Amino acid sequence: MSFFHGPREECGVFGVFGHKDAAKLTYFGLYALQHRGQESAGIVSSTGKTIHEHKAMGLVSEIFDESTLNKLHGHIATGHVRYSTTGSSVARNAQPFIASHGGKTLAIAHNGNLTNAREIRRELEKKGSIFQTTMDSEIIVHLLTQNIHLGMEEAVVKAVSRVEGAYSCVLMTQDKLIAFRDPNGFRPLCLGLLDEGYIIASETCALDLVEAQYVRDIDPGEILIVDKDNLRSIKPFAERRTTFCIFEYIYFARPDSNIFGQNVYAVRKRLGKMLAREFPIEADFAMPFPDSGNYAAIGFCQESGIPLEMGVIRNHYVGRTFIEPAQSMRDFGVKVKLNPVKDILNQKRIVIVEDSIIRGTTSKMRIKTLREAGAWEIHMMVSCPPHRYPCYYGIDFSTRGELIASEHSIEEIKNFIGLDSLCYLSLPGMLEAAGLEQDSFCLACFTGKYPIKPKEGFSKLYLES
Ligand code: SF4
Repeated sequence: MSFFHGPREECGVFGVFGHKDAAKLTYFGLYALQHRGQESAGIVSSTGKTIHEHKAMGLVSEIFDESTLNKLHGHIATGHVRYSTTGSSVARNAQPFIASHGGKTLAIAHNGNLTNAREIRRELEKKGSIFQTTMDSEIIVHLLTQNIHLGMEEAVVKAVSRVEGAYSCVLMTQDKLIAFRDPNGFRPLCLGLLDEGYIIASETCALDLVEAQYVRDIDPGEILIVDKDNLRSIKPFAERRTTFCIFEYIYFARPDSNIFGQNVYAVRKRLGKMLAREFPIEADFAMPFPDSGNYAAIGFCQESGIPLEMGVIRNHYVGRTFIEPAQSMRDFGVKVKLNPVKDILNQKRIVIVEDSIIRGTTSKMRIKTLREAGAWEIHMMVSCPPHRYPCYYGIDFSTRGELIASEHSIEEIKNFIGLDSLCYLSLPGMLEAAGLEQDSFCLACFTGKYPIKPKEGFSKLYLES
């Protein structure tokens, strides 16, 4: 694991039905969703009869070029960017996952984590199923093929009725595109329209890039089927309380996206404003660690009247393949990404507005470089409460040991990072700033109250051989 990144999302999904440039649109859609997964990417397309695919490890820009895209024929396509939270980070786990059964080919792109995957996989293996990957997404395909004789729609209903947890999926057959989202609605998923075609995407920023018009979110628990005849919606589940992931607002989703009915940038700014109200402070300036802290910092400065400065400059060209330095050169690893501006920081009292502290190690190294640049006082304001509990719904902190706040007090974290003070936004403050009903969010990583309890033996490595 790299030591200079924040928590990571696991996946972004995209789908097109009814457009002559389906694969190219998917390529651009995946570009817009790259922040949701940087380990592998793939596109599968269909002419209505034949299926074409290209997937590999790496970034979208590294995997696809004109010649690979030209081979992805057809008016239907689905694509995926992945960061693994279940299953190894290896090429065979790249998505969309493809399987053929009874003359039908299926390709699935999944964002989320299934909390009963181990149990269902064991059951299927006992009945003779042979799995090709270690991904929980493959389980959905096996469940589908068991009921495919009932027709695709019924098979999807039966499959999703068995799985629990978080799933925002795009499923493609030779002649259909099917989008479905778990009844809790943990992860976002939206529907757009481009010319005569339909677009499905994890976030609206991907619709913007391909110039599709946003139509609506796929509802929690909804199955949406698009084929040459029409677009149909099935809602097979009894309605239940939604539990949107509030951390999508705080950190994961792109600020230019609208998710769960609100713009992410606006929510982040309100979180920053709320921090300023909860913790009045005197300082020479406030600053974010770009880019994720930028929007809460803007809100904090607007509310507090404290000037905003950029005390560190981000190098935008540090690629995924950056070779991590030896232990003795750790400052180099931090500085190559964020370099302090000494003339701005020297002899100043600074407020850092941060979106979250997960392990604390990255913050500690960053603060050390600010001290070396001459900062006199460093106070940190975090735009959410302490992360004390693991996430089982698709975020990469799935054990308590990975969370510094699970075993340490705020005072201890402050001392570990090397701060003069450390303040976390209160839970009521976060909810008020997020602006939706308290009951509509998952807050489990802050409260330990899980909307869906993971089944026995769940861990992010549950399927590793
Ligand atoms: Fe999001 Fe936290 Fe819930 Fe995971 S536990 S879904 S990160 S709010």
